[in-house]
Amino acid sequence: MPRDQSESIILRTFPIGDQDKLAVFFGRQRGIFKGIAKGARKFGNRFGSSLEPMSHVTAFYYEKEGKELVTVSGCDLLESFFELQTDLEVSFTLGYFAELIEDSRPSLTEDDVLFRLLLQLLQALKAGGDLKLLTAYFEVWFLKLNGFLPELDRCRGCRQDITETGWLSHKRDGAYCDGCAPSRKEEVTQDLLAFLEWVRKNPPSKEYDVPFTRTQVDAMRRVLKDLIVFSMERTPKSLSYLDRPS
Ligand SMILES: [Zn+2]
Repeated sequence: MPRDQSESIILRTFPIGDQDKLAVFFGRQRGIFKGIAKGARKFGNRFGSSLEPMSHVTAFYYEKEGKELVTVSGCDLLESFFELQTDLEVSFTLGYFAELIEDSRPSLTEDDVLFRLLLQLLQALKAGGDLKLLTAYFEVWFLKLNGFLPELDRCRGCRQDITETGWLSHKRDGAYCDGCAPSRKEEVTQDLLAFLEWVRKNPPSKEYDVPFTRTQVDAMRRVLKDLIVFSMERTPKSLSYLDRPS
């Protein structure tokens, strides 16, 4: 049986029996796939820390036709993000990224853009980047790449540019200007429109180099989260941990 390999990021693992682990991989060339790592729970096993969540690895595996799970024979660590997991809030946030990617991306497809985005975000976080800003950055791109980010800068009613406050449409397929809005629940602010433009033009960075305050970023995330919940037709499980009152 030929051995395949895939540059991947580990999204999560869970124990199988006493000795093995099941790992969910996000492969640069093949999207989401799952594999059994035999013996990964044994002391001193050959996988070492390569199966920790968000590890950037080259995974080696055997695949049998018709089987959903591959057999992982080895995993070379390219870059570890283990230290990020020691902060509970960062760890929950990474779980949120993983949940969104796993639930929305089809298997066996090349996904270079989202893969690079996740890797760059991990590197920015490791270098001390701002968690809330980078989370909002991820949410914008996640929505965009999945086709869930509607046109928000032009009114669905009168087709004029929204130059002051706009309101998200009930079906989340666009926004209305103040004059046309049938209901006013989620506010589409000029800040949000400027932030979407900023995200489109700038890489994720470890500096807090946006012209927006943290309070503004928090406020914009309400609309982004609303769009994510709507597009996934449920609240991501990890989001309920993240948003719990502290
Ligand atoms: Zn209008």
